[in-house]
Amino acid sequence: RSVSRKLLFGGSSFRCNRLASTLAFVETNKEGSIVPSSLNALNAARGFNNDLVVVILGSNASKAASKLKSSIKCENLKKILVSTDEQFDNYLPEKVGPLLVNLLKDKEFTHFVTASSAVGKNVLPRIGALLDLQPICDITKIVDSKTFVRPIYAGNVISTVECTQAQKLIGIRASAFDPIAEGSSDTAVIEDIATVEGDSSSLQIEWENANLTESERPELSSASKVVAGGRALKDKATFEKLLTPLADVLHAGIGATRAAVDSGFCDNSLQIGQTGRVVAPDLYIAIGISGAIQHLAGMKDSKVIVAINNDPDAPIFKVADFGLQGDIYEIVPELTKKLEKL
Ligand code: FAD
Repeated sequence: RSVSRKLLFGGSSFRCNRLASTLAFVETNKEGSIVPSSLNALNAARGFNNDLVVVILGSNASKAASKLKSSIKCENLKKILVSTDEQFDNYLPEKVGPLLVNLLKDKEFTHFVTASSAVGKNVLPRIGALLDLQPICDITKIVDSKTFVRPIYAGNVISTVECTQAQKLIGIRASAFDPIAEGSSDTAVIEDIATVEGDSSSLQIEWENANLTESERPELSSASKVVAGGRALKDKATFEKLLTPLADVLHAGIGATRAAVDSGFCDNSLQIGQTGRVVAPDLYIAIGISGAIQHLAGMKDSKVIVAINNDPDAPIFKVADFGLQGDIYEIVPELTKKLEKL
């Protein structure tokens, strides 16, 4: 696909065709592994059929770039730009923003793609403001190079937006795209890029620390199975006693409603919904969850939804593929036992 640009040259003008190209922002975790949602973002970015350039930042960037090159199959991946400057660890937008703006400002790239992760949602508006461009977030479908689908009003309305800006800054909802295929991209070149000094705002901000909840469980946003509990779980001990064995036997991630989080049954990083995580696993088991719209906004795109609830009129049954009406304290232990025997 090509984009026409009018150039003035020696007093006369002529049109030159410039190939469209995409810059994709790839995140790593502190061990240098690619964050799973970035693999979904790469698949979305690949869909534009443009030349693709990836940018990876932070002390582990070189290691991550080599790993990426040898682990994904992407014919249009031309370059992986790398800066190992440790100021980019933790992806503070004040630090990362100026470098990305520098890459985007000469308009070589027609598209900038990131996952709508916590980092992506933090970085995208800042570069949008600095470049005077409107970012488009939480995209669930790419119709063509300028038309995108995204949910609004907590997923109650699906809007299709057309972006007429020369450069499109987009954040994709990872759960709506498959990860990029595995393989290798041997022809891609890894290239170091120079650090860009930030503006005064970047000098005023320093990373202090992160207080993360460590878990052996699959990461909620990328888990293929999720077992989620609601207010019916009564307290923290009951939440853990009922949900953990089922999640263990299914190798599932554990999620919760806001009611469960607010009641202190579990950490708020487990909240699924409008103000929590958005998940779309192959299997979602909703245990003692009524199915409020704010919760559905975070899970209704799951492939198979199983709901266990004693209220036959609970709204969760309207989105469930399989509904078990009954007491969670009887059904869940019985289900767990049966699964353990398989
Ligand atoms: P309830 O609605 O109380 O449902 C409990 C269910 O358990 C009931 O259906 C009941 O029949 C069933 N039950 C009880 N005992 C048993 C039993 N023994 N066996 C079987 N079933 C039983 N919520 C979210 O989840 N995520 C969000 O991100 C979110 N964001 C919000 C944002 C805003 C601005 C607002 C206003 C609300 C938000 N909420 C969110 C809250 C949401 O509206 C609901 O209050 C919440 O999802 C309800 O959680 P619940 O299903 O666990 O609790």
